[in-house]
Amino acid sequence: MIQLKNLKKTFGTNDVLRGINLSVNKSEVVVIMGPSGSGKSTLLRCLTFLEEPTEGVIQIGNHEVTAGELNRKRKNDIRELRKTTGFVFQNFNLFPHKTAIENVMEGPIVVQGKSKEEASQIAKTLIEKVGLGERCDHYPSQLSGGQQQRIAIARALSMKPEVMLYDEPTSALDPELVREVLQVMKDLAQEGMTMIVVTHEMNFAKEVADRVIFMDGGVIVEQGTSEEIFDHPKEERTKRFLWSVS
Ligand code: ADP
Ligand code: MG
Repeated sequence: MIQLKNLKKTFGTNDVLRGINLSVNKSEVVVIMGPSGSGKSTLLRCLTFLEEPTEGVIQIGNHEVTAGELNRKRKNDIRELRKTTGFVFQNFNLFPHKTAIENVMEGPIVVQGKSKEEASQIAKTLIEKVGLGERCDHYPSQLSGGQQQRIAIARALSMKPEVMLYDEPTSALDPELVREVLQVMKDLAQEGMTMIVVTHEMNFAKEVADRVIFMDGGVIVEQGTSEEIFDHPKEERTKRFLWSVS
């Protein structure tokens, strides 16, 4: 479903991604962990060209884009590749002046050109799916952080993505709100959604991840099942990191 070949990203003289190779199968759940500044967010952002990679090839589903100059064909390829992917950010990024349902309807209307009625139907179904059917007409400020993040997940799903990317989706939440968001993500995983999740939630990784990747300094240091990485890490850097978060 996803293939990255030799993905590199440099900011000025800072080599943030130093040649990432990664394949993710359909329905696979991959959890990425690693210290702050190791390039996790940059990796997810490059995957969807929110950040332009310096070098490398990105393939998602049937779409493949190589790093390079921005000509018209490439712009179009990037737009198509983005449609395959839903992105959930740490800080929800909902439109504050729109209600929950309006937030979820936005993509289907603006990007997919659906009618208001159809978009509203899609949005209602998804908001119910994340357990917030009663909150359709609330504004983000009237929702808890956990509820806002569940609306953000519904909004990402409204574009019918083949892949979901999550960048520390629970790290801005009070501890008691983390579980409800992880549960929604877990349900999606069980329905077969392909996901890459940057998170330090070890229990989520143990329960849901097919594979755990440990990143440091812009490279994949090691990867394996959650058991392999958490119980029998091979690399010193992985061991040190796990000590620091557990
Ligand atoms: P992580 O998500 O693992 O904490 P990031 O991908 O956010 O790491 O950042 C990795 C490195 O890239 C950091 O050194 C950060 O300062 C740098 N970086 C990230 N985004 C930018 C940017 N837009 N401009 C310059 N440097 C950046
Ligand atoms: Mg980050």
